[in-house]
Amino acid sequence: MPAASFKRSRRAASLSLSEIVRISEAARALRAEGRDVLTFGTGEPDFPTPPHVIEAAHQAALGGQTSYPPTQGTPELRKAIATQAGFDCDPAQVIVSTGAKQVLSNAFSASLDPGDEVIVPAPYWTSYGDIIDFCEATLVPVACSAEEGFLLTPAALEAAITDKTRWLLLNTPGNPSGAMYSEADLKALAEVLRRHPHVWVIADEIYQHIAYAPFTSFVVAAPDLAERTLIVNGVSKAHAMTGWRLGWGIGPVDLVKAMVAVQGQSTSGASSISQAAALAALQGPQDHLPTRNAAFRERRDRVVAALNAMKGIECPEPQGAFYVFPSCKGAIGKRRPDGSVITDDADFCDYILNEANVALVPGRAFGLPGHFRLSYAYAMADLETGLARIGTAVDALAE
Ligand code: PLP
Repeated sequence: MPAASFKRSRRAASLSLSEIVRISEAARALRAEGRDVLTFGTGEPDFPTPPHVIEAAHQAALGGQTSYPPTQGTPELRKAIATQAGFDCDPAQVIVSTGAKQVLSNAFSASLDPGDEVIVPAPYWTSYGDIIDFCEATLVPVACSAEEGFLLTPAALEAAITDKTRWLLLNTPGNPSGAMYSEADLKALAEVLRRHPHVWVIADEIYQHIAYAPFTSFVVAAPDLAERTLIVNGVSKAHAMTGWRLGWGIGPVDLVKAMVAVQGQSTSGASSISQAAALAALQGPQDHLPTRNAAFRERRDRVVAALNAMKGIECPEPQGAFYVFPSCKGAIGKRRPDGSVITDDADFCDYILNEANVALVPGRAFGLPGHFRLSYAYAMADLETGLARIGTAVDALAE
């Protein structure tokens, strides 16, 4: 009997290759043809993990920290996370997971039923949509324009809330816009949430330490809402530890217990060596944070200035993270040198990839078409080369 062909589960059926992966693969294919392609698509710092963190991991492995760790995370790391949180919390409220992504996945798996709604300001990080889809829940996007600073307004939040809303998912500083909510912005949103006690909040603060304006955690702005707030953070971006896969959540104990139950049946918890490394990252020297922040800021300034000098491109100045999210609406409708018309943001990114050998991600991947995302977590020399190439390609567009 012939083997039956593989059938995906209903939940997995909607999961597709992310646009970011699609673009990376297109760039790789061009590189294989011998073209010199620059990729400004990925979201990880180009700095190395600090040496004292690597040393701590080495010592942990040599010292025998190689058996199953507690599912919720080691007591030492959870205590360190609670101590540095910046607000009053207890280690029992902390879950350590395999990256901030798994914290989000645990939280949604533990709380969402089919039909439940999650309000997400757009543009938003692409994975939010996939994780929510996987839980058969509904992402309710609320478009936040460049004119609004890509920030959710209290009126837009109020209008999006229904009986089915379970979560508001805020990301500050944000990927892909780099927008940051001030304390006053967060307080204004909290005011709306106080009128809707069934709505819980996830504040994804993974870019906390890459910020060019004062950062405020949602719980600091609205301490009375801590009983229905999950803070998400980790070491990936701040300490250049994307490959160590280590993130955490801080929330109400009942939610955290449910997330630990989910995690217990998926990964059994984060790697013991990565937990030792994260402990060193939190307790060791922190001087790389301002140094790297200053380097990111210099690149941001350069990238924003160069993009704004291009005809048809408008680039707002982000307040954090390491992305810009400019509008390319002024280039849409123009003609390539071969006469064909640029139809939308994805077509613009295809043009830049093929004409300028630079990989960018179209705004539609983040729920806000008409824009593109450029990550500036790359060496300044590469950014300069890439910007010059994008500028030449944009100049070649005709009315
Ligand atoms: N949240 C946002 C907004 C991100 O941009 C990313 C990574 O790109 C993550 C979470 C995931 O972080 P981690 O590497 O800790 O899983």
